[in-house]
Amino acid sequence: MEKIVEGDVYWDRVMRALYSTDASIYEVMPLAVVFPKNVGDVINVVKYGYRNGVSIHARGAGSSLAGQAIGSGIILDFTKYMNRIIEMNVEENYVWVEPGIVMEKLNEVLEKYGKFFPPDPASSHFCTIGGMIGNNASGMRSVKYGNTIDYVEELKVVLSNGDIIHTKPINVDSIEFKEKLGLNTFEGKIYREIYKLFIDNRNIIEKSMPKVEKNASGYRIEYLLRNNVFNLSKIFVGSEGTLGIIVAAKLRIVDLPGKRGLLLAFFDSLEKATNSILTLLKYKPSALEIMDKKYIDLVRDHYEYMRERIPGKTESILIIEFEGENEDELKERLDIAKNVLTKQLGTAFNVEIALTEDEMENLFEVRRAAIPIINKTRGLRKYPAFIEDLVVPPDRLLEFIRGMYRILEKYGLDTIIFGHAGQGNIHTHPPINLKDPIDIDRMRAVCRDIYRLVVKLRGAISGEHGNGRLRTPFMKIEYPELLKIFVKVKEIFDPKNILNPGPKINYDDYY
Ligand SMILES: Cc1cc2nc3c(=O)[nH]c(=O)nc-3n(C[C@H](O)[C@H](O)[C@H](O)COP(=O)(O)OP(=O)(O)OC[C@H]3O[C@@H](n4cnc5c(N)ncnc54)[C@H](O)[C@@H]3O)c2cc1C
Repeated sequence: MEKIVEGDVYWDRVMRALYSTDASIYEVMPLAVVFPKNVGDVINVVKYGYRNGVSIHARGAGSSLAGQAIGSGIILDFTKYMNRIIEMNVEENYVWVEPGIVMEKLNEVLEKYGKFFPPDPASSHFCTIGGMIGNNASGMRSVKYGNTIDYVEELKVVLSNGDIIHTKPINVDSIEFKEKLGLNTFEGKIYREIYKLFIDNRNIIEKSMPKVEKNASGYRIEYLLRNNVFNLSKIFVGSEGTLGIIVAAKLRIVDLPGKRGLLLAFFDSLEKATNSILTLLKYKPSALEIMDKKYIDLVRDHYEYMRERIPGKTESILIIEFEGENEDELKERLDIAKNVLTKQLGTAFNVEIALTEDEMENLFEVRRAAIPIINKTRGLRKYPAFIEDLVVPPDRLLEFIRGMYRILEKYGLDTIIFGHAGQGNIHTHPPINLKDPIDIDRMRAVCRDIYRLVVKLRGAISGEHGNGRLRTPFMKIEYPELLKIFVKVKEIFDPKNILNPGPKINYDDYY
């Protein structure tokens, strides 16, 4: 390996142990860890894997919550060397980057030009663009700005046999597209087969995809062809390193907003909060977050100043962010939304407005407070991520949350609920003892029941964190018809199953 790689190669136990975990509950010891210095290194490692049947696992910051950034073969860590901005064009609103660049670092540079890359996972201060593409990451502001997939325009990808391709939007009536289909290479074979797969199954894809605005489960095959334009780049977004290794990405960037401000709205019932969501969405907020009573109680218990701030009868809180060109426009939008909540709908019993950076930070602190608290909990039962990323259409949110409470109660579990209400994306962490086989069985049963409920409501089992090792075994519940199409996608791109085997397609272990 050292002979074919200019970057760093590690075989030692300590390094391998460091890379045996991500932010999930899983642990898999890799064979080796490689920090590629350039595209040539990536090609050589992939060719080595292809020849020798050794699996290759692309990795950014390793902050995945579902076990998709680990594996038993060679880990390719892009953070050390392949982390640069390759080209930036602020007039034409795009940037080419290497996959290992940290999202926040990219935005620090773009900010100087009044631009930003909008998808905003809570992990943006350490997660990489490669990992965001791998997971189709998104965050609080995706209710306005969309998800990573909406910003990936072109990619350079090393395929499973080591060939490198440049993917971009191509009109299907163009000569260029015909040439792609006619190529006598692995790339040509992929274009022919994936295009045919898409066309042959168009109706089933359309019919079977969850009816939600964010989805990190399965392959995003429905994005391949839009308005007669075929863009192979889209299938790599959310593919968790299972279809190809991204070595460069062209991302769309947008203008920074003029001003941002927040509303903190208090409700004396969950129903009143969820019933306000659809109306609030009409006013185009840039974030719309929800917290349930148990979440609020937890925050109140741990922070005295929150106790004073949150009225005793509060059963649910919405944090609603708006953007405006200037302060006047922003204030007007905040006032309108406040009026909607307190007068027009009459659902909130109190609404506070925050306009300064400090005030906004204080309010967002309420939203961020719970996870650090539960992570510090002592005792055998911890709060692992296992049903932490559910998504349903926002108009089904109340039905979903109530159903979820019922299911958890059936299994004797309690939980806190919070998340991106504007897109129906709920984060929840019931307590589980991962060393207790009974609790592990309970965990599986909860997943199965809750995923069935999600599917009944036309939702997805992951909105932004991905399938990984955690959710892949449940994909048959979500995609009874599409799963066989996903298997074909995997086989088209990775016939030897060397690219991050385990996540997305699991040949023998579906529930
Ligand atoms: C505290 C915390 C908060 C989080 N909050 C959010 C959130 O709000 N929203 C959200 O979406 N996620 C969130 N996550 C999950 C995770 O941080 C994000 O999905 C993030 O984008 C992953 O980036 P990463 O660099 O850590 O990628 P990794 O975890 O290293 O990799 C992610 C996936 O991408 C693949 N991959 C990485 N690089 C490449 C490449 N070059 N080519 C092909 N595939 C590649 C990997 O194989 C893996 O399957 C959170 C995680 C934590 C720990």
